[in-house]
Amino acid sequence: MSCNCYCSRRIIAMDDCIFCKIIKGEIPSYKVYEDEHIYAFLDIKPLSKGHTLVLPKQHYKGISDIPEELLCEVNKVSKRMVSKIQKKFSPLGFIICQNNGESAGQTIHHYHLHIKPVYEGTVIPDETDHRKELSKEEMNSIVNDLIEEEI
Ligand code: 5GP
Ligand code: ZN
Repeated sequence: MSCNCYCSRRIIAMDDCIFCKIIKGEIPSYKVYEDEHIYAFLDIKPLSKGHTLVLPKQHYKGISDIPEELLCEVNKVSKRMVSKIQKKFSPLGFIICQNNGESAGQTIHHYHLHIKPVYEGTVIPDETDHRKELSKEEMNSIVNDLIEEEI
């Protein structure tokens, strides 16, 4: 499959990836949006009404290998989907997240952004109990490590 637009990128699918199969139409999905680069469908096991996954058609594992311009496309579409969900279902808020890597809870290794609407009564995981304050020295050491690293 190859893209018809200006980017003329070859859309490479991974044979063993469920989301690539969904995009190719080999597995059914509740599609809510599609354009040349992006596909969005309802999560099969939603946290709440309208829980949507937004992903690039091209297979990328995560934040580290997806090109920046495609990441922008994913976010643009996500913003529009948030507006639609807001208008139709009036949630109180949204959790927008992307699990990156197995240890962080990523189960499907095809980059995807979760849009999780939050309503009255939606149970959301609370990890604040597991956070801890660091000393000034520790904070400054982290800042130094990060700013000396070239982007
Ligand atoms: P992750 O844990 O990788 O961030 O999220 C993967 C998400 O994909 C999960 O929320 C899971 O419910 C959803 N999912 C897994 N398999 C399918 C499927 O075949 N169809 C759809 N629509 N969603 C799926
Ligand atoms: Zn894939």
